[in-house]
Amino acid sequence: MIVGIDLGTTHSLVGAYSESGSRLFPNALGDVLTPSVVSVDGSTVLVGQAARERLISHPHHTVASFKRWMGTARETRLGDRSFRPEELSALVLRSLLADAEAALGEKIEEAVISVPAYFSDAQRKATRTAGELAGVRVERLINEPTAAALAYGLQNRDGEGRFLVFDLGGGTFDVSILECFENVFEVHASAGDNFLGGEDFLDVLVEAFCQDNHLRQPAILAQEYGQLRRRLELLKRELGGTAVAPLQMAIGGRDYVWSIDEERFARLAEPLVQRMRTPIERAMRDAKLQPSQLDEIVLVGGASRMPLVARLVSRMFGRLPLRHVNPDQAIALGASVAAGLKSRDAKLEEIILTDVCPYTLGTQIARRDPNGQIHTGFFHPIILRNSTVPVSREDQFFPMHDNQQKLTIDIFQGENPLVANNIKLGEITVDLDKRRQTDENGVTVRFTYDINGLLQVEVTEHASKRRHELLLEQNPGLMTPEEIRARLAALAELKVHPREQQENIAVLARAERLYEEFLHERERLQEWIMHFRAILDTQDNTLIARQRGQFVEALDALEAQA
Ligand code: ADP
Ligand code: MG
Repeated sequence: MIVGIDLGTTHSLVGAYSESGSRLFPNALGDVLTPSVVSVDGSTVLVGQAARERLISHPHHTVASFKRWMGTARETRLGDRSFRPEELSALVLRSLLADAEAALGEKIEEAVISVPAYFSDAQRKATRTAGELAGVRVERLINEPTAAALAYGLQNRDGEGRFLVFDLGGGTFDVSILECFENVFEVHASAGDNFLGGEDFLDVLVEAFCQDNHLRQPAILAQEYGQLRRRLELLKRELGGTAVAPLQMAIGGRDYVWSIDEERFARLAEPLVQRMRTPIERAMRDAKLQPSQLDEIVLVGGASRMPLVARLVSRMFGRLPLRHVNPDQAIALGASVAAGLKSRDAKLEEIILTDVCPYTLGTQIARRDPNGQIHTGFFHPIILRNSTVPVSREDQFFPMHDNQQKLTIDIFQGENPLVANNIKLGEITVDLDKRRQTDENGVTVRFTYDINGLLQVEVTEHASKRRHELLLEQNPGLMTPEEIRARLAALAELKVHPREQQENIAVLARAERLYEEFLHERERLQEWIMHFRAILDTQDNTLIARQRGQFVEALDALEAQA
């Protein structure tokens, strides 16, 4: 069985395709959204809701939003171990796979994982590595907006035509323009920003709160900072509604009361809103479309619920966007369809899906000015952005001088005329025969970009016909095969909390978090925690379930009155 996975910055989901369509699997707490949070408790790892509660009670042992570091070598220390972003993602993947296996009753060996369309080569490879570390073969990486469109298009068979998918998640922003006709799904253009999401809008609130209250951010204790973010996150969501209650919070022994309305929030967030315009305009231009030629604008991603998003879209397109019924689930549902396509589900046989390469890929060249002076550092595109994938293009390059001994091909991704402003993906150096003239000492460089968004580069020397293949694995943000093996062994030693105990762990973690937050309820909370622990010791599952229900009700009541 192949599953489809949305490995999100904030939440992750897993599903599969069957006769009756896509279906998402609930986690041990019965929820299809699993927070992408990892926490270490002694030698045991927690993932999901329980880990999210611990962001506040155990900030130094807990981490969230690590998708933002994929493709980098950044490590996070949790307790006495440090983790690469691939490992943290692998722990989330494992938890999702366990949920899918519990629902399906079989071992999962393959997965389709969605990634932001605008993810770079290194970020995509890191996602593949995360799959490997979690013990599944990543059959395919599918672009998130493409997955959302697939789910949307299949759900609304009359949804034929051209549409724009606008995906604002926790950490990334993606725009794709697609055309849907009968069973053909064709992506025309994708653009985005890998560092723009709901988290940035939360940062705006945190900053405003600190400024208004003359609090310098580093001065706030780590624990209170976590609490502040959590409370402001709730407030951010309320800002979409009507009445917003002021935030009351104690920091460093002082009580603060603070309020903000949607209007001021929108004004403060205006620079972020402006940043969203650029990818939208670029995608429209690349697809050669006018706003009036779009049939539909589909909003996905949790942060697209902010009213300022709908306002931006109405301003840009002169109409209201169509809100997807379930903006948090669309991508996972689509990834599951893609998994169904992979396993050649009969019902999906006729569906054809094409995608594009979101970036321009090319090499560095030198140019000679009219005075014969050589200038280096220019970008020379080989594959233009928004070419339909798979795509393979070649070009020829020659040394600048006769008798040159070496030729280095530097590979870049980006849209700037100068390579210094683009992202370097790798390089390859070939030895030339220095007895030759420039024109007989050339090379042919072939770039091949596959459906998973991974690039392969091949260089052929004209004179000797020798071929070189560039492994882009040398990027410092990527793990070597030996490193992967070592980390795999280390991960195997980690204990993960058993799935059947997750509910108990989550409720205890929540009670601990509330203990941190509500000074005046500590006595009561401690008593409940003690009581529930004693019940757990009885190992009587019926009793535990009943008591847990009561415990949750009591916590709900406590949190509601606060
Ligand atoms: P990801 O795909 O990155 O995991 P999601 O699509 O789950 O992200 O969206 C998470 C983001 O959506 C978070 O930044 C969260 O604050 C934001 N979000 C969720 N619900 C709302 C809401 N009602 N109002 C505003 N923002 C929301
Ligand atoms: Mg997402």
